Formats: sequence, C-alpha cells, structure tokens
Amino acid sequence: MLRSENRYIVDVRCKKCGERFILKGRMKKGKMETGFKRCLCDNEEDFDVQVEKLP
Ligand SMILES: [Zn+2]
Repeated sequence: MLRSENRYIVDVRCKKCGERFILKGRMKKGKMETGFKRCLCDNEEDFDVQVEKLP
C-alpha cells in the first residue's frame, strides 16, 4: 500500500508574524499539497516557503 510517492518537507515561515510551520507535502499534478491554509495571524499569502525532498 505504500507507493513511492514524492514526499516533501515543507517549511513555511510567515513573513508577517514570524510563525513557522513544518508540514509534510506531496506533489500532485505539479502542485505542492500540504493542507496548509493560513497562518495564525490570518496571513494567507505572504510566506517564505522552503521545500525539501524526503529521501
Ligand atoms: Zn503569521
């Protein structure tokens, strides 16, 4: 049941309040999916995002 999907660690940092979120992501049809919607401060678009592929 474990397929070799592309799995990523996504490091999201809010540029407004500095809050940091470490998420697991998956590449689906060329788009990164993390389930992340917005920061605690209601910021939805102003982030520093770093994506790291899991081995
Ligand atoms: Zn924030």
